[in-house]
Amino acid sequence: MSYTFTADVSDAQTSTKEEPCLCAQGAECFGDAFQNSVEPHRAELAAEAWDKCLHCKGTGVESVENDDAPSLNLGNDNAVSLLGALGLTVDCWGEIALPEARRAVMRARARKSLSVYTRATEIVYGAPRADENGAIELRPIRSHGFGLTEDGLRDRIERFASFVEASASRGATTITWG
Ligand SMILES: [Zn+2]
Repeated sequence: MSYTFTADVSDAQTSTKEEPCLCAQGAECFGDAFQNSVEPHRAELAAEAWDKCLHCKGTGVESVENDDAPSLNLGNDNAVSLLGALGLTVDCWGEIALPEARRAVMRARARKSLSVYTRATEIVYGAPRADENGAIELRPIRSHGFGLTEDGLRDRIERFASFVEASASRGATTITWG
């Protein structure tokens, strides 16, 4: 689960690129086709592909649309912390005008402490249990929640600021997230 921040840039260029389809990832050439070009590998990708695949229709090669508009993607927990630090409404969807986004960045940078928005790394241990060799594991890890330090949060604020400025330089007037 994640949040993506985007902006209404007026000159976004969409381009289509051919990439090997995931259904053909058993092909030995998959990595090379992904990094370089599918061109020399079409036959091999087609041989590995799933003939009923909806993405590539069995060819092992799919067309992927990319646009070059600035965006910022953050995991849920970090996005909620960032929105809090920016003083914006924490909701599953939101929209603000660009000048408001700049003011939010200035406010967040000026805060002396952001500790209310940070989280400690949280490891939850389960009850002791025996593994398959009969050895007793006293503190098996059940879940691991990654923390966010104040430096980590300030880094997210700067990444948001760069995204806002990149959007502004491309003529954006609104920042949206969800
Ligand atoms: Zn496929």
